[in-house]
Amino acid sequence: MSTTRYAIFGDPVSHSRSPLMHNYAFRGLEVDACYGRWRLAEGSRLKETFETLGLRGANITVPHKEAAFAACDVLDPFAKKVGAVNTIVSRNGRLHGYNTDAPGFLRAIGELEGRRVLILGAGGTARATAVILKDSGYEVTILNRSAGRLETFRNEGFATATFETFAPGTYDLIVNMTSAGLEDESLPAPQPILEAVIPEARACIDVIYGKETPFLKLARAHGKPTRDGSDMLLYQGIIAFEHFTDHTFSFEEIRPHMQKAFEDV
Ligand code: NDP
Repeated sequence: MSTTRYAIFGDPVSHSRSPLMHNYAFRGLEVDACYGRWRLAEGSRLKETFETLGLRGANITVPHKEAAFAACDVLDPFAKKVGAVNTIVSRNGRLHGYNTDAPGFLRAIGELEGRRVLILGAGGTARATAVILKDSGYEVTILNRSAGRLETFRNEGFATATFETFAPGTYDLIVNMTSAGLEDESLPAPQPILEAVIPEARACIDVIYGKETPFLKLARAHGKPTRDGSDMLLYQGIIAFEHFTDHTFSFEEIRPHMQKAFEDV
């Protein structure tokens, strides 16, 4: 039998840690498979490229998660609900789509003390995460710099605000799900707003990983426990690997192998 192939699609994709994570797990669990990366400029060419490369499965990152959703023949109920796919598996010629980002986040926060969560940002990651948190019984408020993307959230029953309309409340967890701090040193919201909510919070998380963002620095300056997005990245990868291998391996079997991708850097 020939080696089974997997890849990550995105643009840019050179920074992605997914090939390292999955290849460690394939090697550690003695699965005859390899995982590469493919910079894809046009999301509309995702399915064709997947087939040309002879892949069994793929992960999809920015900006193609909606295109991946459109390319699938069969959708997992959660992916269907949030309209974004980050994991594809080909079975009997049909593409099955999943979203493992938000389940990865849920797993990463574990058992949170308190139920009130303030999400900064209203993009694709915020949407999927807000939905899974609400379905799990959390009270979620969305704060975004502009109003455009908030309507969908309001229609789904979330409390929403822009910087202009926000009336600070008390939140147990504050999560940065904007891209502020990813490639710059900006805060995700004006400092006075953040300083009105951080002191009351039990913890602050940034889903950006591999650096201490200005948001996390500010939270730490207020003495709050902080975490970056590494656990979310690891856990979404483990859940994707479970799908890739049709649940041959459990989460706990995969974890120590994939974890090595975070020890090397
Ligand atoms: P989107 O492009 O869909 O959304 C970006 C959001 O950030 C929008 O709400 C946008 O606001 C807001 N935003 C962008 N720049 C700023 C700024 N300077 N100040 C305030 N708000 C800003 O992105 P995604 O939802 O796909 O990703 C969001 C973040 O999550 C990224 O940093 C990404 O790297 C990270 N991520 C981490 C993962 C992990 O495993 N750790 C997994 C997936 C994502 P507006 O609507 O006004 O434009």
